[in-house]
Amino acid sequence: MIPVTTFANKKVALFGLGGSGLASASALLAGGADVWACDDDPARMDAACRAGIPTADLRTVDWSRIAALVLTPGVPLTHPAPHWSAGLARNAGVEVIGDIELYCRERRARAPDASFVAITGTNGKSTTTALIAHLLNVSGYSAEAGGNIGKAILSLEPPRPGHVHVIECSSYQIDLAPTLDPSVGILINLSEDHIDRHGTMDNYAAVKERLVAGVQDGGTAIVGVDDNRCAAIADRLEQRGKNVLRVSVRRPLSDGLYVEGDRILMAAGGTAREIARVGGIGSLRGIHNAQNAACAAGAALALGLSAEAIQKGLVSFPGLAHRMEQVGRIGRVLFVNDSKATNADSAAQALASFGDIFWIAGGVPKAGGIESLTGFFPRIRKAFLIGQAANEFAATLEGQVPYEMSGTLEQATQSAARAAASFDGGEPVVLLSPACASFDQFRNFELRGAAFRDLVKALPGA
Ligand code: ADP
Repeated sequence: MIPVTTFANKKVALFGLGGSGLASASALLAGGADVWACDDDPARMDAACRAGIPTADLRTVDWSRIAALVLTPGVPLTHPAPHWSAGLARNAGVEVIGDIELYCRERRARAPDASFVAITGTNGKSTTTALIAHLLNVSGYSAEAGGNIGKAILSLEPPRPGHVHVIECSSYQIDLAPTLDPSVGILINLSEDHIDRHGTMDNYAAVKERLVAGVQDGGTAIVGVDDNRCAAIADRLEQRGKNVLRVSVRRPLSDGLYVEGDRILMAAGGTAREIARVGGIGSLRGIHNAQNAACAAGAALALGLSAEAIQKGLVSFPGLAHRMEQVGRIGRVLFVNDSKATNADSAAQALASFGDIFWIAGGVPKAGGIESLTGFFPRIRKAFLIGQAANEFAATLEGQVPYEMSGTLEQATQSAARAAASFDGGEPVVLLSPACASFDQFRNFELRGAAFRDLVKALPGA
């Protein structure tokens, strides 16, 4: 745990008693703050009380005595409307911050030279975060990943020189971290997302930009420049004197990291040298993962790793569960769990990564369904449709891709395994990449992926 000493002897209001909220409360208490914790859910208030965290109804307290409101990132700060606690804080002139901000202040006070890698982007944050921590750990560095992935940031070890924190940051977390100042900041990409919470695409992009704009002096801002917004951000940062490392998987750069074929190359001063190859690494299939790998390689280089060490780490990266995770094989047939693909854009990344696909899709569809995936239909040998989306997806596939109305994941897995086994030639892949939310049949995408993994394991010969 990282005791937060910057609020010692001050009164801090805290709203949101989920995992990161409880960690923040404990860290503030350990650092000597006087905490008033609150949640709209009485069961969470009770659990906090039992854990020794002082609770209070923030609607009735004297806000003139409060130094800050620590808000959990899941709670709206501005859109669609500020949560009542944020409203009360604003009216009283009390700053509203999150756990990443508490970490940044503590790091500046105690160990400003401790390496702090912060990662954001619309897609690929978790993969890139896990990969950077892996590259560092297998090279003998001491590194911990956390933030929006795994452990809450304040549950990690205290920052110290020689220990690297690799922190995934969502836009909500950045919004609550006004002085975010990583030593290495990464913005992987930007596309439309979370507009409900940020109002407009411009607001969302501006929040994401702050992570790289805040990179401390002497640090490195790594920016994927394959979309126009990120390319403009990289230019702006450079004009302001930041040390910028551009990353592209679309075109060679004269200065920066780029991907050509399966090679990651670093260009500088008119020459390019090979850093690593990503071909044949099962956990990093696809151009989107090449983008993640190149961003991770950029961070590793900034922290002093050699090209050899990066190559070794990439090859041994196990990948993350539910993201194109290889969960089994029967003879020539590979089974891949991409349950995290809860929308068509994510499913597109998986469909682009394989040839002869036996595709399990469906669940609760997003607006637009799978209309945007028609370009991938020639790769799909047969589709197996489940859940609420089955009829809608069948209508889109009609006349272009053979399909079965499987209904359940169990039926779909068995049918797809049989069909793939009898497929002649190629490399058949049974791919669960639903392009849908899970909650008509599973509480979340993790449980859906775990169910698929179990079903595959139970198949004869798996
Ligand atoms: P995040 O943490 O940003 O949600 P993940 O690393 O968990 O991202 O990946 C989630 C899904 O997003 C993947 O299964 C894949 O479909 C897609 N994805 C991952 N990386 C990228 C990328 N660099 N560009 C576009 N899509 C990506």
